[in-house]
Amino acid sequence: MTYGFETLAIHAGQKPEPRTGAVVPPIFQTSTYAQDGVGAPREGYEYSRSGNPTRDALQQCLAALEGGHTALAFASGLAAEDTLLRTVCQPGDHVVIPDDAYGGTYRLFARVAQRWGVSWTAAKVSDVDAVRAAIEPGRTKLVWLETPTNPLLGIADIAALAAVAHDAQARLVVDNTFASPYLQQPLALGADIVVHSTTKYVGGHSDVVGGALVTADAELGAELAYHQNAMGAINGPFDAWLTLRGVKTLGVRMDRHCDNAERVAEFLTRHKAVAQVLYPGLPDHPGHETAAKQMRRFGGMVSFRATGGEAHAVEICNRTKVFVLAESLGGVESLIEHPGRMTHASAAGSPLEVPADLVRLSVGIETVDDLLADLAQALA
Ligand SMILES: *Cc1c(COP(=O)(O)O)cnc(C)c1O
Repeated sequence: MTYGFETLAIHAGQKPEPRTGAVVPPIFQTSTYAQDGVGAPREGYEYSRSGNPTRDALQQCLAALEGGHTALAFASGLAAEDTLLRTVCQPGDHVVIPDDAYGGTYRLFARVAQRWGVSWTAAKVSDVDAVRAAIEPGRTKLVWLETPTNPLLGIADIAALAAVAHDAQARLVVDNTFASPYLQQPLALGADIVVHSTTKYVGGHSDVVGGALVTADAELGAELAYHQNAMGAINGPFDAWLTLRGVKTLGVRMDRHCDNAERVAEFLTRHKAVAQVLYPGLPDHPGHETAAKQMRRFGGMVSFRATGGEAHAVEICNRTKVFVLAESLGGVESLIEHPGRMTHASAAGSPLEVPADLVRLSVGIETVDDLLADLAQALA
């Protein structure tokens, strides 16, 4: 029997604990496990870097939600990305990355991986031909996508780019952080690996940092699991538990994020202090049709450009009262930030530099009228 998304979010990997019947998976806050004899660990548990029941519960849940075979949880999204990179690439290899990737992803490739001999090309992932042209046949191991992108909310066609990557014997990686598995299922569209910063929508409460990799390929899953243990960038049991607690409500939270973001985007399009609204749910967004094809709804992230340039954008960020001025996204509370000076400062002067008049909103699940009133006073 196959279950729906919300049922999986609440039950996958989360059977009542066998000894006591505890309905919620306990926090197994232990580094090691008593063995029944030399070389006879119980159910394979010998050391918590290698395996921990709380982390396993989260991993099984995430695999079910993305429709994957294997999910692996990490200490952060970047720890997951680093583990993936070092599992799949070696010196001399090449990767294609989005020209408006998350700033930390760009930094990982440009400042860390490059020193280990992995080169990269930034391409506009909303343009299939540009990605095809950026591939170096024989050398390109990964084509890396975000969709929607951060912070410009560009949309990449996952199915089309999976075909382009596979033609060149490369794997397609989709950072699904912005959409969450509720809104978008990249593996079903042909992606080989899904990356998450579970810090964002999956955890959803801004109280824990974490990351995950999910794949439908059992062999690749085993290689990644080997490296998860060999490199050791795991999350702790309490962090896994918090993330699993958050994920139970992912579906209902995402629907409210989308409801509120649609209202905010529509409000901003009518405001004279706003030069442009970037939201894939708007019919005039260049990626609207592709987004409608591959996403259930359009998500909770809205970016916009202020008419008065950088100073104006910064002033708006400083003036909101309900929207908290902070980096990160995907929590229940609304956040506002200036990508050029905050999340994307590390991309200044690179192909990934963002417009100085850009403001990014992570629209939370508060009462929507309060969000609109707050933006109205900040823009006035
Ligand atoms: C935050 C984020 C990351 C990095 O995740 P951390 O948990 O902060 O390490 C990667 N990709 C996207 C799209 C993000 O928003």
